[in-house]
Amino acid sequence: MFEDNYRQRGLRNKLVKKLALKGIKDEAVLAAIGTVPRHVFFENALLEHAYEDKAFPIGEGQTISQPYTVAFQSEKLEIKPGDKVLEIGTGSGYQACVLLALGAKVYTIEYKRKLYETAMEFLPRIGYKPYFFFGDGSKGLPAKAPFDKIIVTAGAPVVPTALTDQLKEDGILVIPVGDKEKQVMLRIRKKGGKLLKEEFDYFAFVPLLGEQGWKS
Ligand code: SAM
Repeated sequence: MFEDNYRQRGLRNKLVKKLALKGIKDEAVLAAIGTVPRHVFFENALLEHAYEDKAFPIGEGQTISQPYTVAFQSEKLEIKPGDKVLEIGTGSGYQACVLLALGAKVYTIEYKRKLYETAMEFLPRIGYKPYFFFGDGSKGLPAKAPFDKIIVTAGAPVVPTALTDQLKEDGILVIPVGDKEKQVMLRIRKKGGKLLKEEFDYFAFVPLLGEQGWKS
């Protein structure tokens, strides 16, 4: 299927230790990062960078998120096996693989056709099978709503109401919100029909485009 040799497993274990030192505590998240082969998302020329804690270009002006960011958002989602999760911004598909490794049922939507097609073809080949959608995820995925958890992997100007509307009671939305340069990570929990908001660290994501995102 793909090569996952002693060296790659070793580098992955080192990355997991680094993420733990940086403050990721959820053992299930660390274990998931420890199982998903990040090197298979990299071209040969960039292979040596696959287990650095950095974002990398994946074409179409987009990036595979930094492992710390993937771990941080995954931890904040409090995934339980069987959770129905919507991911907005499939990108490379790496985050979707981590969510699947956590036992979630994953619906992932991408705005750029080429990235959608590449991920839809590639992920099943390496053994990961989310449900793929092409379109504007700033509107959520009403046809498959409601969701236990929603994760947005692009920076939004505001919290799209479509997303909070598509959360189940007790559901969690994790979304970076801010300007185009930096965004604060928000966790929004739906409790008794109310939305409870928590703020975490600042991150720098590519912009969320679309109707409830940035217009350009
Ligand atoms: N989760 C990805 C991964 O693991 O590689 C990283 C995603 S990248 C930082 C952000 C992605 O969001 C890009 O692929 C971009 O095309 C996508 N995106 C931006 N606006 C979107 C929208 N309205 N709907 C769906 N995807 C969107």
